[in-house]
Amino acid sequence: MTDSPESLFSSLPVAVRESIASSDDPHDPVARQYLPVPDEGPVYPEEHPDPIGDEAHSPVKGIVHRYPDRVLLKIVSACAVYCRFCFRKEMVGAGKGHLGAAEIDAALSYIRSDPNIWEVILTGGDPMVLSARRMKDILTSIEKIPHVRILRIHTRVPVAAPDRITSDLAAALITEKPLYLSIHVNHLQEITPAVESALVRLHDAGCVLLSQTVLLRGVNDTVDALEALFRKLVALRVRPYYLHHCDLAPGTAHFRTSIVRGQALAAALRGRVSGLCQPHYVIDIPGGFGKVNAAPCAIHQDSGGAWAATDRFGVEHPYPDRGEEKIRIV
Ligand SMILES: *Cc1c(COP(=O)(O)O)cnc(C)c1O
Repeated sequence: MTDSPESLFSSLPVAVRESIASSDDPHDPVARQYLPVPDEGPVYPEEHPDPIGDEAHSPVKGIVHRYPDRVLLKIVSACAVYCRFCFRKEMVGAGKGHLGAAEIDAALSYIRSDPNIWEVILTGGDPMVLSARRMKDILTSIEKIPHVRILRIHTRVPVAAPDRITSDLAAALITEKPLYLSIHVNHLQEITPAVESALVRLHDAGCVLLSQTVLLRGVNDTVDALEALFRKLVALRVRPYYLHHCDLAPGTAHFRTSIVRGQALAAALRGRVSGLCQPHYVIDIPGGFGKVNAAPCAIHQDSGGAWAATDRFGVEHPYPDRGEEKIRIV
């Protein structure tokens, strides 16, 4: 514990919409994501204001370039809602770091200058708080860069403020290059009829819809909750992409499950729902070393080198594998 709750959290933004958190019960799976609670007091030594090391990989303001083939572009720092477990909770908030016109130009120049950048991911804050006109401008500028083949948007707006997905904003997302849109959603209860309509508008605009979910204690850390959420998403044409282990942001310990439990949940899902409903369970290594698979591996080698695979009932089966003389992976 390194600080008192008052000094750390009084400066953080609190925003929640009546339509998404109609309950003030701190145990409600939706309200729990937004409302400050006394549990936020303890800040543990392993928690960090920049838990996944964005800063370490930011060559120019607004860009995070951690993997050679893709960059994050953070234009706005504001969100429609502020999640208490946000890994960028210390960086987001209206006016905290949004890019001015010259800074956007510099960020675009950076993308233009590196032909290895195949994909640009708009994140934030939340890029979907931009007006339709600004969204169109920025997507057009990015699309014009020949080596950029794929556009991606990470957003909570379709869930947190579905009324913002107007037909104008949806039209701004009609691009020539493929646009993948990943929505942040954590519980079935967040998917209201208004959210469903917003997803239809985004799908009609040609977006490939994906989802990202944060594994949160007291919100979605049961197989039933995850199964219900992922089945609903797939039925709405959204492919679950990532299930994130909750990052080590300050004051978020009450949201974090153990890795053992995260793995047990991932394995249980594997055993009972369609492959379409299986996101990758990942952890982001503190310090900026990237995301890695955190799901349990069902195949293993014994000390003699023989492989075995464990099925969904926990029964082990030998898997014959002759190996190769020389292993060369290009
Ligand atoms: C998560 C992340 C990405 C995207 O990673 P994918 O595995 O392609 O979804 C890219 N850059 C940074 C810095 C990230 O944190």
